Amino acid sequence: MTKPVRVRFAPSPTGYPHVGNIRTALFNWLFARRYGGSFIVRIEDTDVTRKVEGAEKGILDALRWLALDWDEGPDVGGDYGPYYQSQRLKLYKDAAEKLIAQGDAYYCYCSPERLEEMRAEQVKRKQPPGYDRRCRDLTPEERAEKEAEGIVPVVRFKIPLEGQTRFKDLIYGDVVFENSTLDDFVLLKSDGYPTYHLANVVDDHAMEISHVIRAEEWISSTPRHLLLYQVLGLEPPQFIHHPMILGPDRAKLGKRHGAVSILDYREQGYLPQAMFNFLALIGWSLDDKTEIIPRQVLVDNFSLERIGKTGAIFNREKLEWMNGVYIRSLTPDEFFEAVQPYLMNDIAAGEALIGSEDYVRRILPLVQERAKTLLEVVELTKFFFVDELDYDASMLVGKNMDAQSTVNALKAAQQKLKPMTAFDADSLEAVLRPLAPELGLKTGQLFSVLRVAVTGQTAAPPLFETMAVLGRERSLKRIAAALSKL
Ligand code: GLU
Repeated sequence: MTKPVRVRFAPSPTGYPHVGNIRTALFNWLFARRYGGSFIVRIEDTDVTRKVEGAEKGILDALRWLALDWDEGPDVGGDYGPYYQSQRLKLYKDAAEKLIAQGDAYYCYCSPERLEEMRAEQVKRKQPPGYDRRCRDLTPEERAEKEAEGIVPVVRFKIPLEGQTRFKDLIYGDVVFENSTLDDFVLLKSDGYPTYHLANVVDDHAMEISHVIRAEEWISSTPRHLLLYQVLGLEPPQFIHHPMILGPDRAKLGKRHGAVSILDYREQGYLPQAMFNFLALIGWSLDDKTEIIPRQVLVDNFSLERIGKTGAIFNREKLEWMNGVYIRSLTPDEFFEAVQPYLMNDIAAGEALIGSEDYVRRILPLVQERAKTLLEVVELTKFFFVDELDYDASMLVGKNMDAQSTVNALKAAQQKLKPMTAFDADSLEAVLRPLAPELGLKTGQLFSVLRVAVTGQTAAPPLFETMAVLGRERSLKRIAAALSKL
């Protein structure tokens, strides 16, 4: 590679940060970091009608969440700014005027109504859609007439009527388009804003982008872009299109497949490092088998060549599994830090956290092994934080037991626990395990009664550790509450 690597992520602020778009950003970021290049963020905000409030913030938040830091772009600036297309209108206008002057573009005065009629007619006749080029060869007089009517024109690209446009895509190989299939698309709209095509080409050149890495859905735009580079006399960057992310039904990943905003996953308690690893492996692989790959290893080994040619499926189960792996790998401190915001969102857990951080820190190791998401941690630990447990009395009655034997068991346990001074897991086990045979019960029977009494649920973290963390007072209070239920 001779030119420095400069790649860009060029989102349009028209919606939430889609998993697919963010994976594209990730591929660009990995490529930049692998080759010591620059990762640039450019906001393509030229479609005023599709702009969505908050979309840009969501997209940048998503990048920050995954620590996809950018070297140039919003907030950080850079030598090639501004990085908002809406602030670069002059550049596009100049380019459009240059093309008009050269005879490679023309003013089009067709009204939206006429274009609509034309389109309807094309559909009716089963013709391919596209502008019919009515204004392509207007005489100066005809043009003057339209101007006099006060019509503000758009600028259209004069596509060569013959020939082919071809390029070598790093992933798809030789791609060939017949120019006759391309229509004279709009470069500059009547509001003075450029279309995506013009702005994209002008900026990729102006920002010295070396590689355009984007999803396959843009592949049909590339011949248009190449033709623009040609008439503008500019050298095009390299193009790399990667397959789209598919849902389990192999259709393009969309809303009907569930959460597609990457920030929903943050909300649901996925760790950014797990999401990072997961996204990198959708359509890319290190060696076809390794799944858990630390960030730096991904950076050191990323290559465009290993991007697969076919669409890769978004596998939620795999994401969940991976998140669990990453959760288990956290140190207790890291786990506490990660889970804290989720606990704060829950009233009881939040209060407990403010009241005693130490209590929470003792609880967390009991669920770290089991939790698949950070939000699940809140669920799994809920019973530690509430004053009163809400469960049905019938749950207390153990297998092959009745209400009376359950009451007896709870009372016996009460008697044993009351005088205890040390209330750690070992002491609890030493006291409670021998109690079962004394009562003529199996240990499983006794422990399940106690588990429901102190947690309100049949499945919970290890009983003695749980009771130790709850402490003597709370445990006894819960046993008393269980007795009053029966
Ligand atoms: N603004 C386009 C988008 O929303 C950029 C496509 C490209 O990378 O050229 O994805």
